[in-house]
Amino acid sequence: MNEAFSKVSECCLCDLESKAEEDYIKYVLGASLMEPDGREETNEKGFCRRHYAMAYNSRLNTQGLGLIMETYLQGVSVGLSRAGFRHIKTLGGGKPGKARRNSDKDVYKAMQSFAEVADHVLRGCVICERIVRVMERYVDVTCHLYVTEEDFRERFRAQKGFCMTHFRMLMMLAAKYVKGDMTDFVSDLAEMQTESINRLLGEVSWFTQKYDYRNRDAPWGDSKDALPRSIMKMAKYMELDM
Ligand SMILES: [Zn+2]
Ligand SMILES: [Zn+2]
Repeated sequence: MNEAFSKVSECCLCDLESKAEEDYIKYVLGASLMEPDGREETNEKGFCRRHYAMAYNSRLNTQGLGLIMETYLQGVSVGLSRAGFRHIKTLGGGKPGKARRNSDKDVYKAMQSFAEVADHVLRGCVICERIVRVMERYVDVTCHLYVTEEDFRERFRAQKGFCMTHFRMLMMLAAKYVKGDMTDFVSDLAEMQTESINRLLGEVSWFTQKYDYRNRDAPWGDSKDALPRSIMKMAKYMELDM
């Protein structure tokens, strides 16, 4: 933690999260496949869009990812047939020549059950869930060090704010982790974040003005990469051409 905060960046929690994310991808495609508990968790939750892409593109263990996918698809297949059988009476289910019509209520229930199967696929991600847990711990330690260590407090105040995701986490979890008076923490954090957004605003503004032919020869200053830095400040770190 001290190490992460000793570097001044647009969001040092992003730096930590990015490292954790890479580690988890490696773990899920490696050691976790050997452990029944880890494998079961991966099979049950699958990945989100971003983490499927990362796992696949990493080429770390394509066969392993294939095995995870095989089990996952089996689960989805079972879910779909259960959702259908539970509510929809098929033609063959009624008496011969007197196929029962499904009531509107049954059809509606079936639609919901099918949507739930899709929701389960779309919501779950073993990597995202692990990341949330580890980031909550990092936020916990950040608050703890802020309260207990003067040196750390200085390093915290020297940061260029945080991305909005981690800013929100720090704000919302502070009440849980900062014991006693939270005024200093909240005002330090808010001040830092406001300053950071205003600085980016100035940089992006100059970035756009540089496209004016009259400013063609004026120096970029800090504005050359202001747009990707602003995007990541708003939407968390991501792979952008800088
Ligand atoms: Zn961040
Ligand atoms: Zn994910």
